[in-house]
Amino acid sequence: MSSSSISSLAAIGEFGLISRITGRVVTNESVIAGIGDDAAVTALSPGMQLLTSTDMLLEDVHFRRSWHDPYRLGRKSLAVSISDIAAMGGIPRWSLLSIAIPADLPLVFIDDFMCGYLSMAAENNVILIGGDTCSSRAGLVLSVTIMGEQLPEQVVCRSGAQPGDDIWVTGTLGDAALGLKLSEDGEPVSEELIARLLDPAPRVSAARALTEAGVVTAMIDVSDGILADFGHIAEHSGVGGCIQIGALPLSRYFCSYSADFSDIPYHLALSGGEDYELCFTADRSNRENISDCMKKCGIAMTRIGIVSSSVGVSAVYPDGSIYKAQRDGFTHFK
Ligand code: ADP
Ligand code: MG
Repeated sequence: MSSSSISSLAAIGEFGLISRITGRVVTNESVIAGIGDDAAVTALSPGMQLLTSTDMLLEDVHFRRSWHDPYRLGRKSLAVSISDIAAMGGIPRWSLLSIAIPADLPLVFIDDFMCGYLSMAAENNVILIGGDTCSSRAGLVLSVTIMGEQLPEQVVCRSGAQPGDDIWVTGTLGDAALGLKLSEDGEPVSEELIARLLDPAPRVSAARALTEAGVVTAMIDVSDGILADFGHIAEHSGVGGCIQIGALPLSRYFCSYSADFSDIPYHLALSGGEDYELCFTADRSNRENISDCMKKCGIAMTRIGIVSSSVGVSAVYPDGSIYKAQRDGFTHFK
């Protein structure tokens, strides 16, 4: 794409841009009609149900063009949607990408964005099957719809947590939030931390291992911080829970940067957001099965608390004192 001498959107127009995108798309046998017709036609695998989710990313609300290089912005815009399918135990399959583009945005930005988007798609066997393209008068607007599939018995909802279940989380928490904080403060920040913020990895293989093993009672992806997101599981399941702060999985990058603070910034791990890890609940009899899943997918899974029958979610320090939230996870309009 970027080898072309054409450098502006005005020169190629809406349809030029669509065919530029279409030229890069790899398809497969599940797509009967992809980009080009009035609607895409796809075939679900036998016996599977369709899972659908959509997300918007707005310039200066979800990302800043001055920070987020277009390649990683493309990757992230699809990754956050794939993460939603993973959190339902689904197999991601197809996506739609709608973009509203400021007329003066250099074409190379869109080319690099699409390179990133399609690299994330290829890594997860997701096919781009359509979208919409228009001009924007107020920043870059991205809307991604993802579709996935799964057998009905392997779909995992937020609503199945049982009192006494263990609360688990994949990977590590707080890295993206710490990366954001250090960047905002103008502090030096390692590539590893910044990558957690700009190029998160959806935990598809971990989710697939867990759902195939049939060990999960409820699951959610951690986009707004573990306290808020476990809170959603608790609310939908009609339960509560207690998270042990001392058990939170923190990366070595998080710990080494934290050494500069007077206290470990636990609030970033609890309420920081944008981790895109998975939080799930499972009966305690499945601890060994879960460690087998962990070996199978190569993603760490850590037990961080217990589901309770009484409603309300708390977090407790190792000395038994209760964590007081500075703020709950991110919400719009507040
Ligand atoms: P319509 O007029 O029916 O809305 P469009 O002209 O918007 O059709 O789009 C033509 C085709 O290109 C459709 O198949 C649509 O899904 C696809 N398309 C448009 N924009 C994008 C995009 N940004 N990414 C992928 N496919 C796109
Ligand atoms: Mg259209």
